[in-house]
Amino acid sequence: MQEINWSELSFGYMPTDVNVRCEFKDGKWGDVYTCEDPYINVHMAATGLHYGQEAFEGMKAFQGKDGKVRVFRMDENFKRLKNSCEGILMADLPWDKFENAIMTVIKENKRFIPPYGHGASLYIRPLIFGSGAQVGVKPSSEYMFVVFVTPVGPYFKEGFKPTSLMITREFDRAAPQGTGTLKVGGNYAASLRSGQLAKENGYSAVLFLDAKEKKYIDECGPANFFGIKNNTYITPKSPSILPSITNMSLQVLAKELGMEVEVRPIPVEELDTFEEVGACGTAAVISPVGSIMDYENKKEYKYGTEAGEKSTLLYEKLKRIQNGEEEDKWDWTFLVE
Ligand SMILES: *Cc1c(COP(=O)(O)O)cnc(C)c1O
Repeated sequence: MQEINWSELSFGYMPTDVNVRCEFKDGKWGDVYTCEDPYINVHMAATGLHYGQEAFEGMKAFQGKDGKVRVFRMDENFKRLKNSCEGILMADLPWDKFENAIMTVIKENKRFIPPYGHGASLYIRPLIFGSGAQVGVKPSSEYMFVVFVTPVGPYFKEGFKPTSLMITREFDRAAPQGTGTLKVGGNYAASLRSGQLAKENGYSAVLFLDAKEKKYIDECGPANFFGIKNNTYITPKSPSILPSITNMSLQVLAKELGMEVEVRPIPVEELDTFEEVGACGTAAVISPVGSIMDYENKKEYKYGTEAGEKSTLLYEKLKRIQNGEEEDKWDWTFLVE
């Protein structure tokens, strides 16, 4: 048995004991089963490989101070996966198969769940793809659902520190009436080049603008955007962003902390007025943003070298709920029993 050094975990892939699968064939989903093989035997004409019929989710399980293991808001991940499946015409999975698969993969890989106190967690990656052979452009009649887990370290190794973003009008992630609201692999393929450009220039991600007018903030790489000013949490309303479950949760917590919440278009120039800016998603919860470089306009927006006060409060409150250290008023956590 390998020894895992919980404090040294990175945010990468580590093999575990089993993955869990379920297959859709002849118009119905089969039984959920476990599998030791990390490889999948897929037909070369599978629509998932050719036409991008693929959707995924990302969530985490945490071992709390009380020793209990909690999965954060998996009902929301399920709803979003269902929506992604509908959006690209894939067979959608019933809740009982989803829940069974998630709980099974966690229990069967129990020894990989990081204990409380290292800032580490068990990352859960469900995915569905068209597995049936097809050459014409149409949806597959067969699908495969797979869930694997991998222990991951804290997103911020050096603590909760601001990163920098880059705005460029050279690339779009998703079109206004496109697939931006779905968690599908195709959106990620479309964002790889701009993401690489950002990293080459020393930024952690691209902050995408709306593809139509390039006037409003959309989201940043694989995370939603928010700004804070005058005790108000402001996050973009747009037809091309992915509805982040972390963002939804932060909006609830912001109200709980006595802040106002606004969901509306955010013009680029408004970046000048924010006291705090952050990116949010499952990986980091909040990634505070210290500066944003508008590349084409050669203008830099600055927010300081330390995480803002409100962002820190929101971050800690959400983490405490995930770890079972604070009352879960909204029934966000699912116990693994
Ligand atoms: C997954 C994802 C997010 C973050 O969503 P969470 O549910 O908070 O993890 C944000 N933007 C994009 C494009 C994503 O794919």
